[in-house]
Amino acid sequence: MPYCPKCQFEYLPEVQRCPDCGAALVSALPPQVRPDTRGIEDVLLCTVGGEMEAAVLRGRLKDEGIPSRAQLSDVTPLIGVPVMSLPAQEVKVFVKRRDLARARMVCDAAARGDLRDPGQNLDSS
Ligand SMILES: [Zn+2]
Repeated sequence: MPYCPKCQFEYLPEVQRCPDCGAALVSALPPQVRPDTRGIEDVLLCTVGGEMEAAVLRGRLKDEGIPSRAQLSDVTPLIGVPVMSLPAQEVKVFVKRRDLARARMVCDAAARGDLRDPGQNLDSS
């Protein structure tokens, strides 16, 4: 089926020019029209309770060779609520989609405290 390389619409075989933009149709979209970006977009790994936690988690991710990105949550102060009563600012940690499965394991291990005290991690087997 012919495609318009500009509009990326599919047309009937007898159509030779795109009715929308007038471009000559191609039999298939060239590969560069749809770059393969799967796996490299940022996805949310988890939300932690502060910048310190985010730094610790990101350090562990880095140890595993997983690049990450931290982003402060947008906290809109409520009018009339004292600043001191606001919860600690949350930090969202993002990783690349292709790293998500491994990053989850790092995140889970950190949440369980497995990495906190290696001295107690005595496996008799
Ligand atoms: Zn077109």
